[in-house]
Amino acid sequence: MSNWAHVRDTKRKARKSHGCLICGEDIEPGEVYIERFGFRGEPVHMRMHPECESFTHDWTDMDWESFSTGDVSRDEIRATASTAARSSGLD
Ligand SMILES: [Zn+2]
Repeated sequence: MSNWAHVRDTKRKARKSHGCLICGEDIEPGEVYIERFGFRGEPVHMRMHPECESFTHDWTDMDWESFSTGDVSRDEIRATASTAARSSGLD
């Protein structure tokens, strides 16, 4: 059922606000975001905050299929990202 075909990710600067696929919050004009193209039966076009995109790096197909926009807030994602940075010795 999951036949995701990744085409490309592009880093863009928003000219108008977009909703982030992951946290559901706005990507404000002037913010950098990740634009992803792919196919899952039909063309899929998604936009995400860079930290939200990093948050999905260890997701499996199951995670993607069970996820709905806004299941995790941007604050939670930021908290996770800073915890990960601390535990890996980066700051
Ligand atoms: Zn986001």
